[in-house]
Amino acid sequence: MKFHEIHEECGVFGVYGHSEASNLAYLGLYALQHRGQEGAGICSSDGRHLHLDKSMGLVADIFSEKRLKKLPGHIAIGHNRYSTAGSSVLKNVQPILANFALGPLAIAHNGNLVNAGEIREELEKEGAIFQSTSDSEVIVHLIAHSKTGDFYERVIEALRQVSGAFSLLILREKELIAVRDPYGVRPLSLGQVDGAYVIASETCALDLIGATYIRDVEPGELLIINENGLKSMKPLIAPRQASCIFEFIYFSRPDSYIFGEKNVNEMRKKFGAQLAKESGVEADLVIAVPDSGVPAAIGFAEESKLPFDFGLIRNHYIGRTFIEPKQNIRHFGVKIKLNPVRQLLEGKRVLVIDDSIVRGTTSKKIVKMLREGGGAKEVHMRISSPPTIGPCFYGIDTPTRQELIASSHSVEEIRKFITADTVAYLSLEGLKNIVPESHNFCTACFDDNYPISFPGERLAQMELFLK
Ligand code: AMP
Repeated sequence: MKFHEIHEECGVFGVYGHSEASNLAYLGLYALQHRGQEGAGICSSDGRHLHLDKSMGLVADIFSEKRLKKLPGHIAIGHNRYSTAGSSVLKNVQPILANFALGPLAIAHNGNLVNAGEIREELEKEGAIFQSTSDSEVIVHLIAHSKTGDFYERVIEALRQVSGAFSLLILREKELIAVRDPYGVRPLSLGQVDGAYVIASETCALDLIGATYIRDVEPGELLIINENGLKSMKPLIAPRQASCIFEFIYFSRPDSYIFGEKNVNEMRKKFGAQLAKESGVEADLVIAVPDSGVPAAIGFAEESKLPFDFGLIRNHYIGRTFIEPKQNIRHFGVKIKLNPVRQLLEGKRVLVIDDSIVRGTTSKKIVKMLREGGGAKEVHMRISSPPTIGPCFYGIDTPTRQELIASSHSVEEIRKFITADTVAYLSLEGLKNIVPESHNFCTACFDDNYPISFPGERLAQMELFLK
């Protein structure tokens, strides 16, 4: 069986009923750039034709005024794609545009389908020809192959066959459709600006265009937005809700409100405060690994009554590649991104907060940098999430289980590896106590409890993988 790629961190944005639809999509994608930097695309409709433009690269580098002018109309959807190097090719950049019996449609998908491989094989046996290696294309084929009633019924039939995470936008000539998988894994919010409806992965995209947040698209909900207004259906059901807890920990932007209006910054500060309660240590200064560690570090500092400062400075203007001088510079790879502020750190007992440890290589470099470049006397690493032991199959880019350091090493072994004086993680219980209705969240990366099961052969592979 072919193993389809499972790295699908993405951002989606859609607008219906605005004279500057593609300009708004551009701005929305700009605000969602953190969700994917490999490529971006916008597809618009003027009521009669769909117009698509997509490229590799960052939103602001891809779209010029000239290019946006070629995307006319009052409806638009957009997509930011994150992918690993092997699959970063233009054909995998979304929206995906296809023509079939009921006219053209374009889709933009955030999340990852766990049974895309099986479905794709079946469809290929029946003669379907796929253009990309993206799992999202399966949805397009399933809609096209469906023989049931009207378009909406076909979409529902297609989505009942796929399993996994999808926050999905579908554009047709005269309408915009938004659907969220019944587990509600990835966020999706609904807003309004100038009488137009807007759908975005996160509310930070609504803020930028001056849109008002109305509510989340609910798990299992399908919204149809057209000249008749907004219509809601609830055709998809799941045994439970399983929103991704890692959106709070790392992935979403702190200014966003996700999963029923919970502010990401606020949650991260609480994680930090809880971490301070659980594993405080005598220290002179709290610093963060910027940017994602900052809110938790502030929460930690407040709770422990220690001073917080910016002991590591991040260069925000790093492109994908940089030219390394021939003469070897120590720790060049991490230095290009982060540099310690010696004036703050020298001779101090430094407590450094990061949101997570994945492979452990970043932490190791940071500890070394704080000691050598920063002159820190002691370095205490605190992580504002529990140990990451399981890979994500629902849309967060994580390496294989074997590569996750916490899957096979104790905290003490990790401490030795990263050469810190002490290391402590937030407890799973502490995390769950902070997240309201924590039973509605997927915590598989921390407890191996995967809420959406994997079918057939895939399941056997996953089980092997999980051992
Ligand atoms: P590592 O060196 O593999 O342990 O990476 C840890 C760093 O990666 C931390 O600073 C995290 O903020 C960051 N991180 C965690 N999850 C992800 C992810 N899915 N994609 C990119 N970076 C991540």
